[in-house]
Amino acid sequence: MISCATTGDSPDRRKPLSTTPSQLTTLVEDLPGIGPGAGDAFRQLGIRCLADLLLHLPNRYERSQQHACIAELDALVGDESDGPDVAAVVGEIASVRPGFGRRSKVEAVLEDDTGQLRLVFFNQPWVRHRLQPGRRLRVSGRPGRFSGQLQLVNPRFEPAPETPVAAVAAQLLPIYPASEALPSATIREAMAANLDEAVALLEDHLPEDYRQQRELITLGEAYRLIHRPTTPEDVPRARRRLAFDELLLLQLGVMMKRHHRHATLVAPALPRDPERHRRILARFPFSLTAAQQRVVDEIGHDLESTTPMNRLLQGDVGSGKTVVALYAMLLSIAEGRQAALMAPTEILAEQHHSAIRDMLAESRVRIEVLTASCSTAHRRSLENGLASGEIDMVIGTHALLGESIQFKDLAVVVIDEQHRFGVQQRALLRSRRDEEHQVPHQLVMTATPIPRTLSLTIFGDLDVSVIDERPPGRSPVITRAVGKAESARVYHHLAERVQQGQQGYVVVPMIEASDHGLTDVHTHRDHLLAGPLKDCRVEVMHGRLDAAARDDVMDRFRRREIDVLVATTVIEVGIDVPNATMIIIEQADRFGLAQLHQLRGRVGRGDYQGLCVLVADPVTEDGAARLDAIAETNDGFRVAERDLELRGPGELFGARQSGLAPFRVARLPDDLQWLLVARQDAAAWIEQDPRLSQPTHALLRKRLLKAHGEALGLGDVG
Ligand code: ADP
Ligand code: MG
Repeated sequence: MISCATTGDSPDRRKPLSTTPSQLTTLVEDLPGIGPGAGDAFRQLGIRCLADLLLHLPNRYERSQQHACIAELDALVGDESDGPDVAAVVGEIASVRPGFGRRSKVEAVLEDDTGQLRLVFFNQPWVRHRLQPGRRLRVSGRPGRFSGQLQLVNPRFEPAPETPVAAVAAQLLPIYPASEALPSATIREAMAANLDEAVALLEDHLPEDYRQQRELITLGEAYRLIHRPTTPEDVPRARRRLAFDELLLLQLGVMMKRHHRHATLVAPALPRDPERHRRILARFPFSLTAAQQRVVDEIGHDLESTTPMNRLLQGDVGSGKTVVALYAMLLSIAEGRQAALMAPTEILAEQHHSAIRDMLAESRVRIEVLTASCSTAHRRSLENGLASGEIDMVIGTHALLGESIQFKDLAVVVIDEQHRFGVQQRALLRSRRDEEHQVPHQLVMTATPIPRTLSLTIFGDLDVSVIDERPPGRSPVITRAVGKAESARVYHHLAERVQQGQQGYVVVPMIEASDHGLTDVHTHRDHLLAGPLKDCRVEVMHGRLDAAARDDVMDRFRRREIDVLVATTVIEVGIDVPNATMIIIEQADRFGLAQLHQLRGRVGRGDYQGLCVLVADPVTEDGAARLDAIAETNDGFRVAERDLELRGPGELFGARQSGLAPFRVARLPDDLQWLLVARQDAAAWIEQDPRLSQPTHALLRKRLLKAHGEALGLGDVG
């Protein structure tokens, strides 16, 4: 990326004379065509210097035709031909008045020597104070007529340019992200005054032969065309270069990192002979689904090599990721090495522990749990056991990342439910190495489906495996959304299920009573015990219980000594009790889509039909849309897509935590094809020049490190 800092000239060495040629670092107020007082307005939009101005891209274009006078507009009324989108004209405001009628309406009259033009603004009461009589404005819109009078409805307007305007042929007018203090027209003028100079200063970081091979225009040309297109084809040409550039830079970063991992880091090879394979599978109380077998093969293949595995395992809730992880860990232990499993919550760590312990009951594998709630003495003994190698497998939370924890010989690390961990934490566990270049193989698991485009970008250095099949005998969970008025009937049904020996969850938004009118765990339990569930054994479960109490509740729930858990979203991730068949989510409109899908995944894990009831009288459109979406599909990928639509990509899984700069021009998934080309080119390129240390790559390397070095942790690569 170009930026204020790339030319090496520091701003304070610059002479503030208007005759000094501009640099990319020249501050906005020192640029030609920009008033001395305008600096603040520019800075508010993030534009500090010439480079920033160049990077301030139009968000759309208007094909407008500038007319010399108002009378000319007459001929355009009712013209349905394929002309420009809008007509523009300059005039002076003659009068303004609020209109009458049911809708908010402001009316103004614009005039010049040739005639009058009525401007009507619906539902924009704020325009009134910007339309004082006497102001000269440039207005644009589609001319029409009302009661015989020429008019524009909801026109765009901006201060008229200083210079007199002549009629010009239709042109593409860039419309910039603007503010009240800095209208698009002012930005356009500033751009016009500086574009040629800025573009001339811009060095291209892509070698010319590569540019030709991919038919990319130069960086300077791309910026020139995006700010000043002359034909409609100019915009996509410019966009293509700029979008491709962004994608290529990121892919180069990702490939650099990947190359570094392959070339300089080693992990222990874990051979899997058929006998080992058979012995491990024999531990599982069921046979693997075809999808699980496929993934086990992929992982087994990775582990045989000394190239550290870096694999993402995706599988919807209930798809059976845990045994796959266990397989990898047991391969390590069979080789006399250690394995670690890191879970996002203590409850989940404890659950993994008890499930895995049960499966390995007859074996000599020594498994321990390590969380923040371990006593100091116990923790110390665990640390000793891990350091001496007495402990084969440790399951824990992020407490595993503690400074004092040293493994004797850690060969496999599994991170469950990755979306709870930032990229930084992944890096930490990876860097727990006993010898400088020795790292464990790593498997990251998530139930949150990651769209392909994201897994190729943010997580581009991971290999991806997918479990796309559920264990046999599971019918999809039935989901119903009901109003509060129906909740008595819903709880009655839960009580019936309990009578038949099944169990259930009731999820409420919070732990303690508040004045927000939200249901809380304790009040709701009391309410249920006093009425609908009076014959059931009901307990509460939430994040503030201490570890022992939580353990106790989960154990009793698993042993069926508790019928119904009234819980907060602590049960959201991973809790696996197949006999629990029904989940009731109170005030369901308050939960996010991904969260609702996770919660629903707590049921339908056994032979009985799972049922999820969403109780809510949604007050917002958003809330209602989420309930509809979740009731409509059981498919985690569909849910994730809907989530993306409803929330926008900025919110998406990992995009935030990743710390990567968002794309300015590239749009995913629309630009997927370019992404794939960029990825392929980046791989070939890095293969040939792993550190981009060839002189022709110097500028590219500099811009790459600046853009992504930190987020991708390329520090030790460069
Ligand atoms: P998740 O992918 O959500 O972590 P789990 O690993 O917790 O799913 O598995 C969900 C449930 O399905 C568990 O009770 C597990 O024992 C069971 N399970 C997993 N694989 C199979 C299989 N191949 N056949 C039958 N049951 C399975
Ligand atoms: Mg799980």
